[in-house]
Amino acid sequence: MRFTKLRLAGFKSFVDPTELMIEPGLTGVVGPNGCGKSNLVEALKWVMGETSAKQMRGSAMDDVIFGGSSNRPARNFAEVVLHLDNKSRVAPSMFNDAEDLEVVRKIERDSGSNYKVNGKEVRAKDVQLLFADAASGSRSTALVSQGKIGQVISAKPSDRRVLLEEAAGITGLHSRRHEAELR
Ligand code: ATP
Ligand code: MG
Repeated sequence: MRFTKLRLAGFKSFVDPTELMIEPGLTGVVGPNGCGKSNLVEALKWVMGETSAKQMRGSAMDDVIFGGSSNRPARNFAEVVLHLDNKSRVAPSMFNDAEDLEVVRKIERDSGSNYKVNGKEVRAKDVQLLFADAASGSRSTALVSQGKIGQVISAKPSDRRVLLEEAAGITGLHSRRHEAELR
């Protein structure tokens, strides 16, 4: 499943609707400090089902909504739309009849988020599962956020091991071993 297009509106610093085509190959985002590069990566995490406000560098999930600037008033909702190419038909069965998938997450101030896939309302869990199998997903080890490299270098060896095991995909084995030992 390839990401083909990202659209943001009212999300963090992207107050006006902004559309980005994601072409095959490597994509780089460049720009001065504070221009919104990390906000773009967070938009990807968010539309894939991130549930922690802290992971989005906020204290509450409503903090992803444009909060106003010196010359623009705050908005009351934010929306992120991610288009996926599903020609290889690898999406979970509930989504697999479509060649292109349009995943939409919208949040309204004080009333939480909702998700739609190709216009149909779905649960957060459905969206999280859609990306979990594709090894992307909001918590995937494939998303390395700013400052994380420094954290890895200065981490205690035991914490670093957890990270490496997660990356190697053996964390599940450990928890199953632990479960077996308790029996
Ligand atoms: P750096 O190069 O320093 O990593 P960056 O390009 O990654 O910068 P971001 O961290 O993505 O920049 O963007 C930060 C900007 O987004 C700040 O100016 C901040 O005020 C703005 N911002 C974040 N959340 C909101 C919000 N809810 N409403 C309005 N602006 C926001
Ligand atoms: Mg940044």
